[in-house]
Amino acid sequence: MKELILLKCGELALKGLNRHTFEDALIKNCRRRLENLGKFRIYKAQSTIYVEPQADDIDLDEAVDRLQKVFGVAALTRAGIVPKDFPQIRAFAVEYLRRELSRAKTFKVEAKRSDKAFPMKSPEICMETGAALLEAYPHLKVDVHHPDVTVYVEIREVAAYVHVDQLPGAGGLPVGTSGSAALLISGGIDSPVAGYMMAKRGLRLIAVHFVSPPYTSEHALEKVKTLCRKLTPWCGRISLFVVPFTEMQEAIRDCCPEEYFTIIMRRCMMKIAERIALENGCEALITGESVAQVASQTVQAIACTDIACQMPVLRPAIGMDKDEIVRIAYKIDTFDTSILPYEDCCTVFTPKHPKTKPRLEQVLQAEEHLELDTLLQKCIDGTESEMIG
Ligand code: ATP
Ligand code: MG
Repeated sequence: MKELILLKCGELALKGLNRHTFEDALIKNCRRRLENLGKFRIYKAQSTIYVEPQADDIDLDEAVDRLQKVFGVAALTRAGIVPKDFPQIRAFAVEYLRRELSRAKTFKVEAKRSDKAFPMKSPEICMETGAALLEAYPHLKVDVHHPDVTVYVEIREVAAYVHVDQLPGAGGLPVGTSGSAALLISGGIDSPVAGYMMAKRGLRLIAVHFVSPPYTSEHALEKVKTLCRKLTPWCGRISLFVVPFTEMQEAIRDCCPEEYFTIIMRRCMMKIAERIALENGCEALITGESVAQVASQTVQAIACTDIACQMPVLRPAIGMDKDEIVRIAYKIDTFDTSILPYEDCCTVFTPKHPKTKPRLEQVLQAEEHLELDTLLQKCIDGTESEMIG
């Protein structure tokens, strides 16, 4: 028996002339995700992407699991391949769906016939297949409104395909079709979720992380690498840029009024991340900020950080409650890593009374004594990168 995986593209259908570009990007992304699982033939026809394993020993459950995390896939299903001959199709459906039909109480059959040369019409295919299934599984009843299982028989160009209900895909748009962006990733809960959300809208990610040894530990960096790794099933490979931030933070501590530490530090992060983003072909920055979650995330504070760089700063979590963000963190399996208790550079030298409503002129004045250009350049020069995934 031969099987394959059928992928339905979601929003892609809306994209008119761009559709081919999107489908091609999706196929490329699927190919990359399955790369080390075995050889697959992946091609498109009639707005469906076909993923055919080229060997019998390939783990199709694992393939389905991986493809469920590829953005741009609206729904997917594992299906059996049968020659376009009705007696064979009928017999195949009885055997192939044994597990699902034995468990179900009710079912219905839906037929799709894109090969109009096939001698039977869809209603006839449904009736005849249904009759064969009722005979083979006498406990079953037909329920056309709310069946436990829907059996699909699709008669397409080269073969017929038999399957049950589709699984939901990851939705969104293929990674890379909206350009690239640099994710400012901390070890926290919010920024990995923010990266996931923007990758879902088709952005390829690079990640920028600031470290301040000895105030932050090797464990904290390892944790960020783990978070990046956990994002790769969704986002693809990620280049992680690690920026040495100690000297900058010490200079801020020594030269600036304490209540402005955090806001100045965040402005520096944006400037550095923007430089790295530009050098790596990115068009935007991404952060995990959410209005009023902490002192540096008031609207006034965000205004002061925003203006530190020219690039658009995407903040997909901006209007989300913590529990909404946490729900996504669970879904993408980053939560348990994010809550490991290692210090982030943001919590080094935190002021006792941070300015919650900073005004830009005051912030600029507070920055006056920093040798900003030299310090920024040192951060850039000391940055190291690593490919994750
Ligand atoms: P998170 O859960 O993402 O850490 P947070 O609610 O703890 O966010 P902050 O610590 O104020 O908030 O950080 C706000 C945003 O700044 C983060 O979402 C992240 O995008 C960025 N950020 C914070 N610390 C770092 C860091 N060490 N390296 C890179 N980006 C950082
Ligand atoms: Mg944080």
